[in-house]
Amino acid sequence: MPELPEVETVVTVLKRRILGLTIQNIDIYYDKMMDEDTKTLLIGKTISDITRQGKYICFHLNPYVLISHLRMEGRYFFKDIDEPKLKHEHVVFTLSDGLSLRYHDTRKFGTFDLRHLSDYKVVPPLSQLADEPFQIDPKALYKTLKSKHKAIKTALLDQSIIAGIGNIYADEILFSTRINPHRMTSKLTQKDTTNVVNAAILILNQAILSGGTTIRTYVSELGVSGRFQLKLMVHQREGEHCYVCGGSIVREVINGRSSFYCKTCQKR
Ligand SMILES: [Zn+2]
Repeated sequence: MPELPEVETVVTVLKRRILGLTIQNIDIYYDKMMDEDTKTLLIGKTISDITRQGKYICFHLNPYVLISHLRMEGRYFFKDIDEPKLKHEHVVFTLSDGLSLRYHDTRKFGTFDLRHLSDYKVVPPLSQLADEPFQIDPKALYKTLKSKHKAIKTALLDQSIIAGIGNIYADEILFSTRINPHRMTSKLTQKDTTNVVNAAILILNQAILSGGTTIRTYVSELGVSGRFQLKLMVHQREGEHCYVCGGSIVREVINGRSSFYCKTCQKR
């Protein structure tokens, strides 16, 4: 599943390629993903900006915003108009310079929502998003966490508490701060919370930066998925040695999500 840094990379790539282009046509091959009314409203509109809110991609098409979420497997490809359509391309945008932007999604979980530019941030789905680590006030977050009775791992994934952190980076952030993923949020200190926010900013920024270095590959061959390699300390490293203490990384399921951590470095 793409996380915030990957989505940021996707937005960067999309902006470079399609900003200022006009939507000439939209072909919808999976009607649950986009309806005919949306298509009608968007034809003839120019892409004036592309922004990111949490893991949502917002195409600004005055007076509308098309809000795209990639969910598990969604990705965008740039292709020539006459290239044959692939099985998993569900929405194909024909743009003004002879380019087609294709939304590809093997799982079909991705979503498109059309909203008005004037209020798209205050209505669902974006209104349900909390601030991202980059904007969040650690004191306010501390108060929120105090009032919840959840494992910190679960809280970090809750987009209404803090936005933009997915499973991979939640594990990495907790390792970096030496906090056990099972620790209850009500037991965290203000210092722990500040450390979590700082670690989140650092790790997400590193990931965004490393995403930026591989942009060209994604565009030319793989499409825009924004995936990249960042050295992970714990995530997906079950049974391997901890880079800090040499102990063994364990995997435990917390609230339905695989969680990787070091029992020595992240004591309960
Ligand atoms: Zn360790």
